[in-house]
Amino acid sequence: MNARSPKDAPKNATRRGVVGALGASLLAGSATKAMAQPSMGFAPPPSGLGGRPFPNLLRPLANGPRKFGYAVVGLGKYAINQILPAFAECQHARLTALVSGDATKARRIGKQYGISESNLYSYSDFDKIAQNPDVDAVYIILPNALHADFAVRAFRAGKHVMCEKPMATSVEDCQRMIDAGKRANKELMIGYRCHFDPITNKAISLARSGAIGKPQIITTDNNDLGADTTDPTTHWRLTRALSGGGSLMDLGIYGVNGSRYMMNDDPIEVRAMIAPNSSPVFSQVEDIITWQFRYRSGGIAHGSSSFTTYSTTRFCLQGDKGTLLMDPATSYWSNRVSLCKSGDIETWSTPMFTIDALNQFSAQLDHLPISIAKGTRVLATGEEGMQDVRLLQSIYKAAHTGRAVATDWSDWRKTI
Ligand code: NDP
Repeated sequence: MNARSPKDAPKNATRRGVVGALGASLLAGSATKAMAQPSMGFAPPPSGLGGRPFPNLLRPLANGPRKFGYAVVGLGKYAINQILPAFAECQHARLTALVSGDATKARRIGKQYGISESNLYSYSDFDKIAQNPDVDAVYIILPNALHADFAVRAFRAGKHVMCEKPMATSVEDCQRMIDAGKRANKELMIGYRCHFDPITNKAISLARSGAIGKPQIITTDNNDLGADTTDPTTHWRLTRALSGGGSLMDLGIYGVNGSRYMMNDDPIEVRAMIAPNSSPVFSQVEDIITWQFRYRSGGIAHGSSSFTTYSTTRFCLQGDKGTLLMDPATSYWSNRVSLCKSGDIETWSTPMFTIDALNQFSAQLDHLPISIAKGTRVLATGEEGMQDVRLLQSIYKAAHTGRAVATDWSDWRKTI
């Protein structure tokens, strides 16, 4: 959806992403601060949930004798425009198989990338991938509701799994995926590409230096006017059974994930509101939605997402000593971070529309084999993806009931 090629992208085109890594470090410095007592009788989540690992630039692993092979499942816009071309820049990963419901398209794309016909699969013969030694991992880039079943099938086939966001459309499906990975003893990683974006990493190091003091308010807006939102009968993003929801599932998830990381904490209370839909196109899923999180630390996040307001990906983190603004925050090709403090503004950005050796897509693809080789956990685990899905569900519940929702932490400890 709206995954433009660099050539046709407008000058300040922005795109979706997760700024989780940014928040990881932004709040690391404040993790030991005294926690405010939660109100409304909600039990606080167990401590120590924050502090996700600093992503660094995850490149330096000696090249092994053989690159790690991915099968990409679902040849849609994101796969074709972003992921497949990014293999060219990978140091540790290569594309070895394609899985598609469209055999002609798979053959055409297979030829472009030098994939032999024997490594092209349909959804029905996907399970035969178990016998293919060229495939180490399966990268699922399908409509959201199909992620869980394909992840479970991939684990059954003995493969590692990279899965696009949102991880699934229910917490139960997320758990199913995590359990299947554990049974297979294979890694599960969620495709939160901004963990690997150099500007996000710059923002992380700025925040880790205490540049804005204690973060207290986050505002984040993630909107995409160019979304494929014209016909609910043909587009899965508008069909609840395939998407699980509207702009929140597709775009708002980045604000949800990023704000958790920025606060280095998980929310204890969720509130939300959905604007009445102005068009029958949104008969099954929401268009405009806003939400608020309250954290143990006393910090507050406010987020919005929509399919019908001007394309924006923005984070603003306000502390007691300054403000950090990322705008665009989650673009494919260029992001920008500004530190505003004592009347001064310093800005860092990457050149527009260049894919250099450290592009976020290739770094994400390389991260899975690097983690497997080192025996370390991936940055964006299934548990992290599930926590976001849990919060997305809480936002919907808050919006539909008009009440604050306490977050459920009962099984968090069990899963990590
Ligand atoms: P598209 O609609 O462009 O592609 C989805 C592909 O899934 C289709 O082309 C088709 O591939 C396959 N598919 C299988 N079953 C169905 C079905 N019932 N209906 C529609 N398609 C089906 O979507 P995107 O590529 O934009 O999104 C795919 C996933 O990637 C989503 O989970 C989305 O959230 C995520 N995404 C992540 C982004 C990021 O920045 N991390 C950006 C964009 C998307 P085929 O014809 O080969 O069978």
